[in-house]
Amino acid sequence: MDEHNDMDIAKDAVAEFAKDETARQQSQEGKKKKKDRRPLYYVLLALCAVLIAFQVPKILSLRQENTKPQRIGTTATDSQTDACIDNLWHIVRQLQLGETDIRGYACPLNGKPYLLIHEKGVYSVACPNAEAHGFSHVRVTTAKPIPELVP
Ligand SMILES: [Zn+2]
Repeated sequence: MDEHNDMDIAKDAVAEFAKDETARQQSQEGKKKKKDRRPLYYVLLALCAVLIAFQVPKILSLRQENTKPQRIGTTATDSQTDACIDNLWHIVRQLQLGETDIRGYACPLNGKPYLLIHEKGVYSVACPNAEAHGFSHVRVTTAKPIPELVP
């Protein structure tokens, strides 16, 4: 009887151990499964990074389009000169898009058409009466994305 009891206890112990072991294995498998998913997260993360990397130049170019171009020189300009530079800026954008007809634009000071020079693949658009703006030259070229105001 005692022996039998001992056997039972041993059996119980073994059964208990086996149960624990399977539980442990299951939990380990669960952990493994969780671990196995991590590469997927990395792939998704990498995809996001790639998407962002592709968007960054777009965002930057949008910002470039929206920000007013910095001017060479520190001279303060009046609103007419600003409007004139705006025109030059628009013309250069048209030229960059392959549109060379700039007849729609004129200096806001006297309505004269702009001067267009094409040299070595670079277009240079200048105000016909830069002196009226207080400069010897007011121009924008397709080579440099900055309006030039030459005193
Ligand atoms: Zn002008």
